[in-house]
Amino acid sequence: MIKQDKLSDNALDFIDDHKLTALIERPEPEAAQVKEIIAKSLSKTPLQLDETAVLLRTTRPELVEEIFEAARKLKRDVYGNRIVLFAPLYIGNYCVNDCRYCSFRRSNKEAVRRTLSPQEIVQQVEALEDKGHKRLILVFGEHPHYNAEFIAETVGTVYKVKKGHGEIRRVNINAAPLDHEGFKIVKEAGIGTYQIFMETYHHETYQQVHPQNTLKGDYLWRLDALNRAFESGCDDVGIGALFGLYDWRFEVLGLVAHSLFLQEHYGVGPHTISFPRLQPALGAETQYPYLVNDYDFKRLVAILRLSVPYTGMILTARESAELRREILAFGVSQIDAGSRIEIGGYTEIGDAQVQILEKEQFQLGDLRSLDEVMRQLLEDDYLPSFCTSCYRLGRTGEHFMEYAIPGFIQNFCTPNGILTLAEYLEDYASPETQSAGKALIERELRKINNKRIIETVKKRLAQIQNENKRDLYL
Ligand code: SAM
Ligand code: SF4
Repeated sequence: MIKQDKLSDNALDFIDDHKLTALIERPEPEAAQVKEIIAKSLSKTPLQLDETAVLLRTTRPELVEEIFEAARKLKRDVYGNRIVLFAPLYIGNYCVNDCRYCSFRRSNKEAVRRTLSPQEIVQQVEALEDKGHKRLILVFGEHPHYNAEFIAETVGTVYKVKKGHGEIRRVNINAAPLDHEGFKIVKEAGIGTYQIFMETYHHETYQQVHPQNTLKGDYLWRLDALNRAFESGCDDVGIGALFGLYDWRFEVLGLVAHSLFLQEHYGVGPHTISFPRLQPALGAETQYPYLVNDYDFKRLVAILRLSVPYTGMILTARESAELRREILAFGVSQIDAGSRIEIGGYTEIGDAQVQILEKEQFQLGDLRSLDEVMRQLLEDDYLPSFCTSCYRLGRTGEHFMEYAIPGFIQNFCTPNGILTLAEYLEDYASPETQSAGKALIERELRKINNKRIIETVKKRLAQIQNENKRDLYL
């Protein structure tokens, strides 16, 4: 059940506004200190808050360039060239809250309200499978109807849809904070990551943009949500801040503080960090003194990468194709592609390069199809991956070995990425994407130095191409 009353009394407030503000207000650091912290990060050690703050206070262009370069290097060292792809599926936009930045806010009378029926969900998922998607994030407004049971049922509906070779192998959630019981129910349903963005970690701003008389007005209920998730067995969680509501440097410290808190209390940090940037939205307020420009956005992504070397980072289609291309190199591990955020948008709007503002939550910056995004990734020498094997083999949360075990990426992630790419090329790719993909697979195979793994991958590639087999992973 979504919480109906304010019951966050037992929640611990681990965000100290005064401390975070003091950290970003100190003077510009010496170059030697900045370089020392960059070196620590390059040795793949997570940064403490004061160290992150030093990078945030660095404004000299040549040092900022060093931060960018270090983020690019860390991304290559830790993650290699894989980029995981997913799509959002908006299930319903009824909302009892009144977040000042969002089109779904209850006071927006122009919003076209709708909840997909089970049949409509099937149609949307079929359309997504027809494009080649294997991983979705389901997005919900906050409303008593969208309770844990409803979310769980929806997840079940999505997993059951199989069209041709299509199937959704991982369903993540972005929805309201649940109570302990609720998190247990959605975990049972087989969700992947449960994602909740704090929006702003700054208490005063939080109260300004989320009216007190709404469910979301309770800062601590939201801050404590992922603690309840862990305590209920959901060990795969995503955090995020909506950049543009308050000073971006404060929000970066909030995100790092949140990560450190989860790591310290539950032995594992968040699986992913998201950094959505405020976009124009119908019915939303328009006066925002803290909007983040592209340069600072690049800085914040690079600094986050350096601060939390082992956390996945998600860059969404809110940003333009051009900027996404540039920022990918700074440490992004997941992107969405071919996204439609109108309810029903995958069948009712399809690939059209238009948006219907009355029907969507905010404006998107990258409307390219999945195939176009795949092609560009391949041409830029990224390995687009739909891999879900860790999660399906129970390798999540504290069992998440991707970064902990030396050679894991070489031995599992890259081979599995290649196999999911090969499936995509066989079943969904345009001829141009197919040839770019085949060339990339050749290049990737040449990079693997374990003969046994090369043989296994080649055997499975042949099974995909000649025997019509799917869902093969190591
Ligand atoms: N209703 C749930 C909630 O608020 O957490 C989940 C869904 S909400 C539709 C998903 C996220 O969209 C929010 O957490 C917020 O960060 C983001 N969002 C809302 N309005 C936005 C805007 N104008 N521009 C960019 N992102 C926005
Ligand atoms: Fe509702 Fe979420 Fe939008 Fe707030 S951000 S109005 S809770 S959908």
